[in-house]
Amino acid sequence: MSARIAFVGLGNMGGPMAANLVKAGFEVSGFDLAPASQEVAARNGVRVGATLAETVAGAETIMTMLPAGKQVLSVWTELASLVAAGTLLIDCSTIDVAGARKAHGLASDADCVSLDAPVSGGTVGAAAATLTFMVGGSEEVFARGAPILGRMGSRAIHCGDAGSGQAAKICNNMILGVTMAGVAEAFVLAEKLGLSHQALFDVTSTSSGQCWSITTNCPVPGPVPASPANKGYKPGFAAALMLKDLSLAQDAANSVGAVTPLGAQAMQLFRLFNSLGHGESDFSAIIKLWRGEAEGNRI
Ligand code: NAD
Repeated sequence: MSARIAFVGLGNMGGPMAANLVKAGFEVSGFDLAPASQEVAARNGVRVGATLAETVAGAETIMTMLPAGKQVLSVWTELASLVAAGTLLIDCSTIDVAGARKAHGLASDADCVSLDAPVSGGTVGAAAATLTFMVGGSEEVFARGAPILGRMGSRAIHCGDAGSGQAAKICNNMILGVTMAGVAEAFVLAEKLGLSHQALFDVTSTSSGQCWSITTNCPVPGPVPASPANKGYKPGFAAALMLKDLSLAQDAANSVGAVTPLGAQAMQLFRLFNSLGHGESDFSAIIKLWRGEAEGNRI
């Protein structure tokens, strides 16, 4: 197992992931542009570098957890001129499939090996080391990276070659966006028909409508006490991130000519919801659209 790990991007996800690597006994250096992220990481035992070059010097594995493809490609381009041959580069950010393949190409041109390994599980999973990693890259490189991923998550699924992890992630989140929109719609219909939230939950959570948007992230308060609906829709998984992932899914669908009308509709609904100022709410708060409670919205 590679003992020295550099971690670039120490935000809401990367911060706790790097902290879990420290707890697992790795020597972890870290880099982030934001002073607040640097301070939290340093408190958690990460040796915070002043520059990217200083941070990655001597690391056998370099991980990135950055906002979007633009930052990943910019950092990986810089890394390509800094790293020793044979270094393992792992990107855990959610980015477009084409961007992920470009990043693999940059690594390969620098004689390095690489994985795209986006995650599911959110900030709670990042803190508890229970993330699921969806991984793209060769079998051999997956075998090298899996023990490291195993210290930050409970599952790492090898999905196929370069870019396959990102492909799996956007397909999963397209299902999630569509199901949450459908579940929210059904709860509001039930309200108007005089059916209680609990009754609808009891039926759907054990019937053919059952899905994660009902059983774990139920968009109404009550039936699932830990769901964000019980905490004023504090995320959880922010509506802005759902819009980002649904947009990535549509870009990917357009690039290969896939027919995804429900994904397109879900993207438009989340775009509307975000444009009404709800990007920082949990994505389950989209139920407000159907109730006419989203500010400025009376549909
Ligand atoms: P975040 O904004 O909290 O953290 C990103 C960090 O990257 C910030 O601290 C920022 O300062 C840093 N950064 C940006 N550009 C940089 C650069 N060039 N060099 C060094 N540092 C840089 O975001 P997050 O919530 O941690 O999300 C990270 C990724 O994980 C995103 O791609 C997101 O889509 C994905 N994701 C997030 C969640 C979630 O629930 N937050 C869940 C699954 C996946």
